[in-house]
Amino acid sequence: MSAAGSSGRGAPPGELQICHEHGQREVFCGLAAIVWLHRKIQDAFFLVVGSRTCAHLIQSAAGVMIFAEPRFATAVLEDRDLAGMADCNDELDRVVGQLLARRPDIGTLFLVGSCPSEVIKLDLEKAAERLAEAHDGRVRVLSYSGSGLETTFTQGEDTCLVAMVPQMPAASAEEISLLVVGALADTVEDQFRRLFDELGIGPVHFFPPRRGSALPPVGAGTRFLLAQPFLGATARALAARGATHLPALYPFGVEGTRAWLLAAARAWGIADERLEAVIAAPVARAERGLDHYRELLAGKRISLLPESQLELPVARFLHRECGMQPVEIGVPYLDRSVMADELALVPADVRVTEGQDLERQLDRLREERPDLTVCGLGLANPLEAEGLRTKWSIELVVAPIHGFDQAGDLAELFARPLIRQARLVA
Ligand code: SF4
Repeated sequence: MSAAGSSGRGAPPGELQICHEHGQREVFCGLAAIVWLHRKIQDAFFLVVGSRTCAHLIQSAAGVMIFAEPRFATAVLEDRDLAGMADCNDELDRVVGQLLARRPDIGTLFLVGSCPSEVIKLDLEKAAERLAEAHDGRVRVLSYSGSGLETTFTQGEDTCLVAMVPQMPAASAEEISLLVVGALADTVEDQFRRLFDELGIGPVHFFPPRRGSALPPVGAGTRFLLAQPFLGATARALAARGATHLPALYPFGVEGTRAWLLAAARAWGIADERLEAVIAAPVARAERGLDHYRELLAGKRISLLPESQLELPVARFLHRECGMQPVEIGVPYLDRSVMADELALVPADVRVTEGQDLERQLDRLREERPDLTVCGLGLANPLEAEGLRTKWSIELVVAPIHGFDQAGDLAELFARPLIRQARLVA
């Protein structure tokens, strides 16, 4: 097992100090998850029911990053609607009617809720039922919240998947299957499917699926692995349908990917030696990929500001496999039910913060001046201007970083700003 720079196991249970902060936050709302969800679920359309602010966020976050026929839009509630002069439901029905007439290819329509008070008053769940009926069941209409009052950034995927769980067909207790939960790049999905095939684990389903009209079955025979650490509510919804969670580290780097596969292998009664034989070649490739960056990253100090919920597993990978020294690991919220294995590996001398008090966090950052800071888009430029090197956390959710074959790419994401700095200094 690779553990360059590892300090072995993390803090003994109960000894890890977690600071809780409340204050100003600098984090995307859950609408941002549309950026990767609309790319993953190819027959889905995401209609944000919101304000012009929401429209701007979607256009700037998604529009500039996705070069495809748009499958997201915003039903902007005009001022007259907000003043209660028009019936918002009528307006929504009209927009949806136009959209479905123009786009017969839509298989699943998500109505995505947002913050404005008039939107909060709208019952989008009821609206979804009404619209599905009005369109003769031709399209599945679901709703979920991406509101900044209720969700942060990646939590938008969690609320979206929770909305789909009741629609999944029922599987019987005898139908033993593996469900991989969390949006993955198709190439990564294919790599994992090949490994599960070689191990003799199956049938394997992925959730969300590539087509919303092909939801996987779920039932008492379903065992599920979380591929993303921000899907606690989805895990609970699947458990309520009888599925069993297989807790594990998240599949980042060699250590995380091995532990994740091991959890499935053991649930299928496969010997550890068999797993090692199957993963030997990809592990060797991953180690070769990591070797390019270990020397550069080893000993470098890193702080991760709370945004993506990927902070704990990514810091674990950077510390234990690349030798980086985490100074602070911030998470927007901590769901221990899906983070226990990762928390167990956090070194006792690393500060873990939950929530955010932006000014205090920036004060600590300026005092500690780590070699690299992982943060949101809004903070990166000001911090760079202060001479701090940064990495955008959004890259962690839009770049394929899971699995053995992406371990080197994941390390490279963090090496790049350091290489750029070295070139500027030289
Ligand atoms: Fe802003 Fe709320 Fe719209 Fe997000 S959902 S863009 S936080 S108004």
